[in-house]
Amino acid sequence: MTDTFDVLNPSTEEVVKTVHMASTQELDAVIAKAKAAWPAWRDTAPSTKATLMRRFAVLVEEHKSELATLEVLEAGHTIGNAEWEVDNVRNVINYFAGGAERLLGQQIPVPGGIDVTFHEPFGVVGIIVPWNFPMPIAAWGFAPALAAGNTVVLKPAEVTPLTALKLAEIALEAGIPEGVFNVVPGFGKITGAHLVEHPDVRKIVFTGSTAVGTGIMQAGASRLKRVTLELGGKSPTIIFADSDVELAAKSAPGAVFDNSGQDCCARSRILVQRSVYDDVLAHMESVVKGFSVGDPALRTTDMGPLISQVQLDRVKSYVPDDAPILYQGDAPQGKGFWFPPTILAPVTTADRQYSQEIFGPVAVVIPFDDEAEAIALANNTDYGLAASVWTRDVGRAIRVSRAVEAGVISVNSHSSVRYFTPFGGFKMSGIGRELGPNAMEAFTETKNVFIATDN
Ligand code: ADP
Repeated sequence: MTDTFDVLNPSTEEVVKTVHMASTQELDAVIAKAKAAWPAWRDTAPSTKATLMRRFAVLVEEHKSELATLEVLEAGHTIGNAEWEVDNVRNVINYFAGGAERLLGQQIPVPGGIDVTFHEPFGVVGIIVPWNFPMPIAAWGFAPALAAGNTVVLKPAEVTPLTALKLAEIALEAGIPEGVFNVVPGFGKITGAHLVEHPDVRKIVFTGSTAVGTGIMQAGASRLKRVTLELGGKSPTIIFADSDVELAAKSAPGAVFDNSGQDCCARSRILVQRSVYDDVLAHMESVVKGFSVGDPALRTTDMGPLISQVQLDRVKSYVPDDAPILYQGDAPQGKGFWFPPTILAPVTTADRQYSQEIFGPVAVVIPFDDEAEAIALANNTDYGLAASVWTRDVGRAIRVSRAVEAGVISVNSHSSVRYFTPFGGFKMSGIGRELGPNAMEAFTETKNVFIATDN
């Protein structure tokens, strides 16, 4: 295998940059550097860690235009989304900066002494990042990891390493010491696998496909490696007849097609109560056909290309010539990995488009009769990441939210990721939670200390 990788612009197929891919020996050297940097970083005063991270956040803001442009170029994200992503990175770093000073333990009443708990950092944490949201997903891992006193070795996805490399440069500029936050581009099966197996890497945070995630858990099992896994999804939007049907219907396509459907939270199964099924479809038609697909650098564009030829071929395989296409938008022809927004109906629960994660701008619509059937359909999947519930009945909203087996539920909204609330999946969608008030605990071991007072 060559030791370089051509990062392509998915809109044009032109090479943006040729990047060196680390060998396992080079990765060993970076892990050794991160290990050597750890004691000093662990022992850095919480207020100093917080100050350095806040400076890091300020510099991310100052580099907003450069970072957003890189995300448009290497990932094909719309400029609006890319700017949101830079803001998210800044906010996540700021949020966890404060965490360094609030990593509180407990004081537990005990006989014969006092008892306190500490949240001790692991040491070196490995973070493996996918290509769908390269910048934010990197930050959801490295910000709490650093704030909790770990050092980090981060491997970006092959096709999208550029923003992560830039963030590592910015961290140094902010004064975060050399060796504390390291970014190493490399191939998943070589560098990624080596990071997982390395004995000095105490924890792995992985976001990506369920297939690779289960392999990582197996590979780490012999050393009981701690893992946080954020994997695939096949999330539903559930539209009840008692909802604001027009708003629910018009917002449903965007909840699939944003980021060209390359979103583990994409609401790719649209479940609709039968009495409003025709209304919902009628409202969706103009939205789907009106989606503007094209140059992601233009502010008028709603959706860019898919990330790669591999991804385009995968998505196309779910929409063969005889697929039941109900509505389809337009997409550019020629160079670039373009696929139009597509709604499939009628489909059945036996169809692979219903059960498998497509990770592209393709949704299925299925009718249901009552609340019980809606819940059964929603849960009829191996995944359990997100769900949107549309109803004006508050009791139903709560019942359905509690009954759906998913980690992130939104009622009368499609919101999934907010840096101040926990994010992660049930079932085959993952293990552990990122973001939110408790995220830093996943980057620490709890230590209990009993101090006798009677001796
Ligand atoms: P996708 O199929 O969407 O590209 P993957 O799950 O294959 O997603 O990739 C997500 C991340 O995992 C990437 O950074 C990739 O390089 C990495 N990766 C892929 N295979 C492995 C592996 N066997 N061990 C560790 N990391 C891997």
